[in-house]
Amino acid sequence: MSIPLVDLAAQHAEVAEEIEAGLADVFATTAFIGGKAVGEFELAYADFTQVSHCIGVANGTDALELALRGVGVQAGGEVILPANTFIATAEAVSRIGAIPVLVDVDPDYLLIDPNLVAAAITKRTQAIVPVHLFGQVAPVEKIIEIAAPLGIPVVEDAAQSQGATRFGRFAGGLGDAAGTSFYPGKNLGAAGDAGAVTTNRADVAERVRLIGAHGSAKKYVHDVVGFNSRLDTVQAVVLKAKLARLAGWNELRRAAAARYTELLADVPGVRTPNSMPGNNDVWHLYVVRVPNRDAVLHSLHEAGIGAGIHYPYPLHLTRAYAGLGYQFGDFPVSERAANEILSLPLFPHITQAQQRQVVEALRTLRPRAVKGTLVEVALGPLSQVSI
Ligand SMILES: *Cc1c(COP(=O)(O)O)cnc(C)c1O
Repeated sequence: MSIPLVDLAAQHAEVAEEIEAGLADVFATTAFIGGKAVGEFELAYADFTQVSHCIGVANGTDALELALRGVGVQAGGEVILPANTFIATAEAVSRIGAIPVLVDVDPDYLLIDPNLVAAAITKRTQAIVPVHLFGQVAPVEKIIEIAAPLGIPVVEDAAQSQGATRFGRFAGGLGDAAGTSFYPGKNLGAAGDAGAVTTNRADVAERVRLIGAHGSAKKYVHDVVGFNSRLDTVQAVVLKAKLARLAGWNELRRAAAARYTELLADVPGVRTPNSMPGNNDVWHLYVVRVPNRDAVLHSLHEAGIGAGIHYPYPLHLTRAYAGLGYQFGDFPVSERAANEILSLPLFPHITQAQQRQVVEALRTLRPRAVKGTLVEVALGPLSQVSI
């Protein structure tokens, strides 16, 4: 039996009826933009995340861009972010005309290393973006300790961390503002593209709403040059229904992650992920590290197991960001991780039998260091499943 990296069918089945009823209402009223579900979802998500403001937007990348603009990032400014993240974190910066300044991650959790942030700050630094990668909350308070005395705002990339907490406080409410994504495979996923900005700052919320609505708070009165980034009513209906189940789904993810960790304990060569003390993570991804990763991945795919790599190239080694001028060797922890990380199938409704099948496949493969370079290992086509 093949096992996908992510299976959304069971999730959707739980909310299908509610969504149908909600959609019937949207189509009956034809309130496709700014329908009542949008405001309801924004309030519900602000409540869930325990923040004062939530602004629904078109996708997660827009959410990050708007959050950055909201705290005052401008063209020519510098924004510090980890080398080990999805490219959208940097794209949000680049779209403003600001410059991504990369720092390495810590070797234990692969999250932005606060100890490296101070050295990356210059007079031009306009924001710092901790990324809660894999659903693990980054140590935002340590970054604020460095940034606050300098008046530098902290913007969280909370795309993978809906419902995660650090010392009891929710990701998305730890800094000056946050951008999150409701891409279908995220812990809270829409039926298409969607995202949100969350913040406790009224001034930021106001700016974000203004910029994301053509720079206009009042129809046809345009105060700044903005753009269009709105949460569709249809997506708000889907998100509202799923949000009511998110806490439960996150608990299922936590249980599945704990089960993997237990089952993998006696599998040699597999390093399992840990939660940083103080965190209650939400396991958007369950990422192990193995020495001969590409061969292991290939064999898992042959066995019908949809494992993945998040992400195979640190930002400085992408062609898109070659222009930043970094070199191989600049971010050794991210570079090494990129060769070892392996995301195992994980979703709320994964069964114990499926998890045992994944673990047994890994046990049979006996991950171990291989002679020669990894590229010599015949690689099948990588799964195009992106989550
Ligand atoms: C998904 C994701 C984004 C971007 O979200 P989109 O909705 O696809 O634009 C940004 N950052 C991280 C870490 C993500 O995982």
